[in-house]
Amino acid sequence: MALRKIIEQGDACLTMVCRPVTAFNARLHQLLDDMTETLTEANGAGLAAPQVGILRRVCIVMDADTGEYLELVNPELVAQSGEQTGLEGCLSLPGKWGIVTRPDRVRVRAQDRDGNWFEAEGEDLTARCFCHELEHLDGHLYSERIDHFLSEEELQSYLEQEEEEGE
Ligand code: ZN
Repeated sequence: MALRKIIEQGDACLTMVCRPVTAFNARLHQLLDDMTETLTEANGAGLAAPQVGILRRVCIVMDADTGEYLELVNPELVAQSGEQTGLEGCLSLPGKWGIVTRPDRVRVRAQDRDGNWFEAEGEDLTARCFCHELEHLDGHLYSERIDHFLSEEELQSYLEQEEEEGE
């Protein structure tokens, strides 16, 4: 495994629509292993292949309940319900945060590293992460969904408020 460099906003890779994966080979497995290592090192909740410069429909999402990383190849959103509004960041926009509204629960269909289709469900933070990573594969960033990045003061008061609410 090897760490890959995480590309930051401004690089064209983050604005492109990624191509489906058609070959479930050692090269894909290497990419997935490297992405997991890179995500672990960055202490992030999710990472999409375009963030490491690979324009393929591949992403890793952390299950917020178990802390486990889920590998998703050619993922599609098949169902969504509810609504949540909360703090969101991205490894490609380091040090920045915004408030984004997302579905509260989603169901995703994807292939594993060997090409087998499966479905996965997520709610709360996991649902947010699924939506965020899938958008990367179509060249979109969460910053398109916000009217401004939070200032340091806004971030602090948001975090304090969340702590008071015991979330
Ligand atoms: Zn991101």
